[in-house]
Amino acid sequence: LIRVRDLYKVFGPQSERVLKQVHAGKSKSAILAETGHTVGLNKINLSICQGEIFVVMGLSGSGKSTLIRHFNRLIEPSAGQVEIDGVDVTALSASALQAFRRQRMAMVFQRFALLPHRTVLQNIGYGLQIQGVDNSEWREKASYWLETVGLAGYGEHYPSSLSGGQQQRVGLARALCTDADILLMDEAFSALDPLIRSEMQEQLIALQSKLGKTIIFITHDLDEALRLGDRIAILCDGELIQQGRPVDILLHPIDDYVEAFVKDVN
Ligand code: ATP
Ligand code: MG
Repeated sequence: LIRVRDLYKVFGPQSERVLKQVHAGKSKSAILAETGHTVGLNKINLSICQGEIFVVMGLSGSGKSTLIRHFNRLIEPSAGQVEIDGVDVTALSASALQAFRRQRMAMVFQRFALLPHRTVLQNIGYGLQIQGVDNSEWREKASYWLETVGLAGYGEHYPSSLSGGQQQRVGLARALCTDADILLMDEAFSALDPLIRSEMQEQLIALQSKLGKTIIFITHDLDEALRLGDRIAILCDGELIQQGRPVDILLHPIDDYVEAFVKDVN
């Protein structure tokens, strides 16, 4: 179970002072105009159940990446907590955080973040390798995921020689190749062509039901959100404005912003 409690993030050198203005109810745009600080997240509260696919949507700049980067603490909060199975991630020591990330979390980044000097297969098996899993075992698992994402034959290539969509699939295979039970996926499918995208969606659903992974999935694509999401959360200007099952959001959008997301779906 992941619990996010009163999470705030202000970007800028005087975030503490500016946070007080956020608490006082000043708008994101006024704060940006007057102080140059960006309010990334504004009082986010949510919980995500184990084994759930939790989709995060919202316009560009609404805070989606900022939110999920708090889950593995790539970003430090300005205020508030992220608790995972009773562990306050925001309070972990550096070494405990590192262990926690390795055991529990895998992230697929919006920009692929592959290791340029390692082959595709080494990239995919990297997480297992650094955990000390022996050579034949990580190679076998990495080969399985290499094939699964449709890149059989590319194992000895280097990332720079692959297309964007292929690199994205390597990033995906790398995340799926670990034993992590929490997957953070930041627009992980956005560079894929429709056929592979649809296959990957199926893979993901299968993975969730077979292995019970908890998946936090950012997407701009409503059809994808509806297909994958057990629940969907919608962010606007750093605030969580609606969350619920896909059917609830479709039938009862809370305002015009949410309605604009769902209006093209029948
Ligand atoms: P996109 O769909 O374009 O990826 P997003 O919803 O993921 O957008 P975020 O990247 O979370 O948006 O950004 C939310 C806000 O925080 C934006 O206004 C952005 O400019 C700001 N922001 C994000 N990271 C930083 C940073 N490191 N320093 C300053 N401002 C930042
Ligand atoms: Mg983003």
